[in-house]
Amino acid sequence: MSQASIASTSNNRIMCYCGLPSRIRVSTAPQNPGKRFRTCPNSLRAGRKCGFWEWVVEDPVTEELLGLSHELNEMKKKMKWHKVALIVLFVLYFVKLY
Ligand SMILES: [Zn+2]
Repeated sequence: MSQASIASTSNNRIMCYCGLPSRIRVSTAPQNPGKRFRTCPNSLRAGRKCGFWEWVVEDPVTEELLGLSHELNEMKKKMKWHKVALIVLFVLYFVKLY
């Protein structure tokens, strides 16, 4: 049961390029039968998918690390905007002084 909850939480954390939670599907390809992969939730609707695709890592630790690295990337993006905001504030402060 705990195994299933780990899989579902990390599944929700990994977003596709549309910003939607990725969907896990099972491969039917003869080379990798039954192997799970993540894809865009729009992948079944032609023309709307973003092309996001990756194999599901079955090891929960690696899975967790992948989820964390995705989170880290999100945080880095936010940090970038914080830096821009700080520079803007600094410039405004500087302009006020003179
Ligand atoms: Zn997508």
